[in-house]
Amino acid sequence: MTSALAPIASSEKVGQIRAVCFDIDDTLVDYVTSSRRGLAALVGHDDAWPLWERVTEMQLARYLAGEVDYETMRRERTRAFFAELGVELADSELEEREELRVAAMRAAWEVYEDVWPCLDWLRAAGLRIAAITNASGPLQRMKIADLGLAEVFDHVIIAGELGVAKPDPAIFHTASVALGLPPEQVMHVGDRLDVDAVGARDAGMHGVWLDRGDTHAEVPQGVLAIATLDELPEALVCDVAPVGT
Ligand SMILES: [Mg+2]
Repeated sequence: MTSALAPIASSEKVGQIRAVCFDIDDTLVDYVTSSRRGLAALVGHDDAWPLWERVTEMQLARYLAGEVDYETMRRERTRAFFAELGVELADSELEEREELRVAAMRAAWEVYEDVWPCLDWLRAAGLRIAAITNASGPLQRMKIADLGLAEVFDHVIIAGELGVAKPDPAIFHTASVALGLPPEQVMHVGDRLDVDAVGARDAGMHGVWLDRGDTHAEVPQGVLAIATLDELPEALVCDVAPVGT
């Protein structure tokens, strides 16, 4: 499908913004679809998706709080998930099934079709690009590499590696420092209104909510909402730049 992007702008046209940070899951990569595919490999179907999401959130919070290491988190998550289904599995089987889940998920990782045209535009406009993600670490690095995104990002900030997660301003400021730019010269784009857009705004960045579901929910002051990344160049050229110039 062809992109509806505006012509490339020169860097001076994008005002004070010098870098754009992106969330990864459900912003650049269709996380839900690939994770459901992984769940189907783990348990034979993906009917228990809400349960898997709940267990993941709980175990990920323990990992981000430093209570458990990465491998323990993954093992405990699978064990807790099966326990909720009333199934007790031996460690070896848990491990085997987890491997199947990861393989199925990896095979299903895909970027949305508006991602590469947008990233190419940003590069051509002379902007730097970074990732700020609340994932755990190793798998996220693998995903970024698998999808060819590793070369695109000047910096990748991962909550599991840093020990701080969005919307804590510290993770946004870490990105800012890595980019060598003050927060007001950085835009952050993500699919979660609270965690991404409002978090970035409160850290002094330009917070952009990527509302892929086009929900038209109420958008707080100081946050820009877009429904597709095709809208980002225009937002940079027309909407955001005048605010800071
Ligand atoms: Mg996300």
